[in-house]
Amino acid sequence: MAAEASNFLKYVDEHEEDFIQRLAKAVSIPSVSGNIGYIKDVEAMAEWLLQQLISLGVKAEKRAIGQHKLEGKDVDLPPVIIGQLGNDPNKKTLLIYGHYDVQPALYEDGWHYPCFELTQDPSGSGRMYGRGSTDDKGPIMAWLNVLEAHQKLGKELPVNLKMCFEGMEENGSENLDKFIESEKNGFFAGADCMCISDNYWLNTETPCLTYGLRGINYYEIRVNGPDRDLHSGVFGGTIHEPMTDLILLMSKLVTPAGEILIPGLKDLIAPVTDEEREKFEAIHFGVKDIHAAVGGDQTLTNDKVTTLMGRMRNPSLSLHGIEGAFSATGSKTVIPCSVKGKFSIRLVPNLTIKSVTDLVVKYLDAEFKKLGSKNRCEVVLGHGGEPWMADFTHYSYRAAHKATEDVYGQAPDYTREGGSIPVTLDFADILGLNVLLLPVGRGDDGAHSTDEKLDRDNYIRGTKLLGSYMYELAAISK
Ligand SMILES: [Zn+2]
Repeated sequence: MAAEASNFLKYVDEHEEDFIQRLAKAVSIPSVSGNIGYIKDVEAMAEWLLQQLISLGVKAEKRAIGQHKLEGKDVDLPPVIIGQLGNDPNKKTLLIYGHYDVQPALYEDGWHYPCFELTQDPSGSGRMYGRGSTDDKGPIMAWLNVLEAHQKLGKELPVNLKMCFEGMEENGSENLDKFIESEKNGFFAGADCMCISDNYWLNTETPCLTYGLRGINYYEIRVNGPDRDLHSGVFGGTIHEPMTDLILLMSKLVTPAGEILIPGLKDLIAPVTDEEREKFEAIHFGVKDIHAAVGGDQTLTNDKVTTLMGRMRNPSLSLHGIEGAFSATGSKTVIPCSVKGKFSIRLVPNLTIKSVTDLVVKYLDAEFKKLGSKNRCEVVLGHGGEPWMADFTHYSYRAAHKATEDVYGQAPDYTREGGSIPVTLDFADILGLNVLLLPVGRGDDGAHSTDEKLDRDNYIRGTKLLGSYMYELAAISK
């Protein structure tokens, strides 16, 4: 442990209750970004956060980033809050990100506690319930706690800190990419690396560093036939039926064992390095954890590493549904005249949105031709997001590794997320920075769900972790 950090850690231990009050205040402001009824609360949250930062000595300001349509009305997007503390050319400059908006929450959805009131579990488990407790107010408050400790102790931060907090993450981060682009050579200039705390441990016991995210391509296969729905008693056996064509095409995409059948796709996957395999082998995880999470034993294999790679570092193809199909209860004898089959592919390095789409379209066109159908078929990419992977040997990861060992007494797992966190890619690509995902909360925190919680221990040790990470970052050689 960097010796200079010791009175910081002591301060954290002595101010647990104050820090919990700070989180309680943040949770009490229902800053739901996706609902017009909460616009004033999102504004109030931005203002409160700004004032907190200013009172902690940060040079901070709100930035307007344009308008968007919310429930049919044109309204201002929640402001981005940027701030800077320290400008010493001899120190590294760390950029951090968080979001002060939250998902909607209604007591009627099945909460056992008030949604916007931080409630400590009466049984004494240390769980603190409330919307935003873990996603993402807890981590932002942890950063503020670090700043408060240094201000009160009269200590300078070991690094220069730049902060970017947005209020639209739960509603698509609209215009954030444009803001980053516009400030690339302005506010963001000079940042050496970046840390985002907005994901979770894989389990409930082992801290982790997250270095990869899968991307996604979402497709529709549109099969169009006659210009109206038909009766199977009258026209069955006389025409090419769109649904029959579609089912056949969808059956050619993936096997029940999860193998993707699109030719050429597997060849694009980046080979697994020994170092990477070691990281997967070391992860604290059992196939039973997946069984518990899905409520069944349907895993494709019982091998841990294969399962983890299936979720984190290999592409997957999922069939999602058919639009236009007869799906109500009953036995209607309709022949749908046009149907849309939906499927998506999770992307990993070195698959790209374009390379995968080229293969998908070429393959499905050829398979459709084989059917000899007189219907029309078109494959359309709905939306796409590229995969992301950081260099986990970068000094920022080494610093976080050491900080985790110091604070938790164990080495972190190195994980990847099977889904996407689009802002990560925006920051990494536009600013060209190494991005570290350093979670504070546990795998069972229930972000976006009812009874979202953050464990008191994760909040307090999370505060220590973020502070210690800064000290290790300052000490480590590039
Ligand atoms: Zn979040």
